[in-house]
Amino acid sequence: MDDRTFRQAMGQFATGVTIVTTEYEKNVHGMTANAFMSVSLNPKLIAVSVDHRAKMLRKMIEAQTFAVNILTERQKELSMLFAGQIKLEKTPTFARLHGVPIIEDSLVSVVCRLFSKKVAGDHTIFIGEVIDIKTRKGEPLLFYSGNYYRLSSSMEVSP
Ligand code: FAD
Ligand code: NAD
Repeated sequence: MDDRTFRQAMGQFATGVTIVTTEYEKNVHGMTANAFMSVSLNPKLIAVSVDHRAKMLRKMIEAQTFAVNILTERQKELSMLFAGQIKLEKTPTFARLHGVPIIEDSLVSVVCRLFSKKVAGDHTIFIGEVIDIKTRKGEPLLFYSGNYYRLSSSMEVSP
């Protein structure tokens, strides 16, 4: 199977968008990721999958702590910035939760300590044990088939 077929098919799985943030040697680093999921309730675990080519990989391993920030519909530009697709004149500011950098104004910030990691092909799946969560009001940013969307209540599926 060629890569295009796989990517096109996986792109049919509509997701939210997150930015993973961490800090290593006093440098804050962020990376856009949609390969994110909730894993376990007891203990509370989440997972995010990181490409071996990403600079984020080494930083998460060294830092042992990271945050997953679920974006609002107002944060498309940040998603593109942290995917290396655009530059912004204004540098983003980071808040802190348990000393871990988080994206201000995101819908949810989930702060984790590294619980375990598993190499899976050309990615590593990071499992994080959740230390704390900060939630804010807003609507999620959605990603589907390579494009960004917002929720529309008029599009809710009726029973
Ligand atoms: P870089 O490419 O060097 O950094 C990413 C960008 O963030 C750069 O533009 C950099 O300037 C900026 N940046 C980083 N830190 C800061 C800072 N402190 N201040 C200001 N700017 C900063 N890849 C995956 O591995 N897993 C996924 O699940 C995944 N999902 C994606 C979902 C979407 C919707 C998109 C668009 C991309 C996704 N990617 C995913 C691809 C990934 O976001 C990019 O390949 C990204 O560029 C890899 O980042 P990097 O760690 O190599 O660092
Ligand atoms: P796309 O058509 O490449 O991505 C569609 C879907 O394919 C994604 O939502 C993801 O589920 C999957 N995918 C894409 N690249 C992958 C990879 N290297 N490993 C595993 N799954 C992958 O294009 P797009 O949605 O416009 O993405 C823009 C950029 O972000 C591309 O360079 C893409 O490779 C990257 N991206 C990477 C991942 C990832 O590593 N898990 C996820 C999404 C996007």
